[in-house]
Amino acid sequence: MDTPDRQHFHQPHIGPEQTLNRMAEKRADKVWMEERLADKSSRFLLFADLSLAVVSDPDRSNTKLRWLTADQIELLGVNLNETYLLGCNTDGHAIFAAVLSEAQLSTAPGGKDALKPLVDLRSLAMQGELPDTELSLAGMGRALAAWHMMSKCCGRCGGYTRVRDAGWRRQCRSCGQEFYPRSDPAVIVLITDGTRCLLGHHKRYTHKFYSTLAGFVEPGEDFEGCVRREMREETGITIGEVTYMASQPWPFPHLMMVGCWAEALTTELTLEEEELHDARWFTRDEVKLMMEEKHPEGFTVPGPHSIAYALIKSFADQST
Ligand SMILES: [Zn+2]
Repeated sequence: MDTPDRQHFHQPHIGPEQTLNRMAEKRADKVWMEERLADKSSRFLLFADLSLAVVSDPDRSNTKLRWLTADQIELLGVNLNETYLLGCNTDGHAIFAAVLSEAQLSTAPGGKDALKPLVDLRSLAMQGELPDTELSLAGMGRALAAWHMMSKCCGRCGGYTRVRDAGWRRQCRSCGQEFYPRSDPAVIVLITDGTRCLLGHHKRYTHKFYSTLAGFVEPGEDFEGCVRREMREETGITIGEVTYMASQPWPFPHLMMVGCWAEALTTELTLEEEELHDARWFTRDEVKLMMEEKHPEGFTVPGPHSIAYALIKSFADQST
């Protein structure tokens, strides 16, 4: 299989590491944490039921992250000891994520209206309004917030858990069991027979939107095995060589998308219709038209913030 050079793979900007030091060594340092929480320059991202507080023009243009101070967060009823340290930015200021429950939101001063606009991060990513560095930082905060929302009780004994290490661990109050933030691995796959690529249209997609195929990694399975199993189940295609290209954290709720190219050894399709509404082979010329939203049948592909787009682009850009 003639895979693209990974050096030239157009990887979407992912992970906030370019502007953020996660400060993992300080998460359990209570004195340092108290100093950061008391520091007037520390800033908080606010999630209300996983919707993100932003500042934006009425027509939703010029959207930016909305930064709150510790005082503002406390006024909303959030316990500062239950906020999550994302890290320190390049000028050394600490950045946290804070989560407001539905109940806190209803009793907050000024109510929900005072925090508007509260937006869905996925929609924001699709619109491409938020700068890449802010989008990845918000994604990190959302993934962590989602994990905490789902981890309030111990999976071992059912007791309540509490926040530890600035949000990077939870511990059961009853049995002491520890829990750590997780990323759930899923493969996302560009299948090619050399001259065409296979893209699918899922039932949940609106319009004529085609994308790379994806599936969850099961226990005891490696990425290559997952690619071969999922693609056989979904499309009936037998996969040969599998090549890792790049990965992308996807905070809905906390996935790790593992992007691969896969060689198709067969081309006849047998679709798993429960999931996949349609899948078809597209030539490079067709894919280019889809990326430019000029395909004669109105077919389109995902937006440029996604690893799906990067995989599709790497196929379209190949000269052979
Ligand atoms: Zn327990």
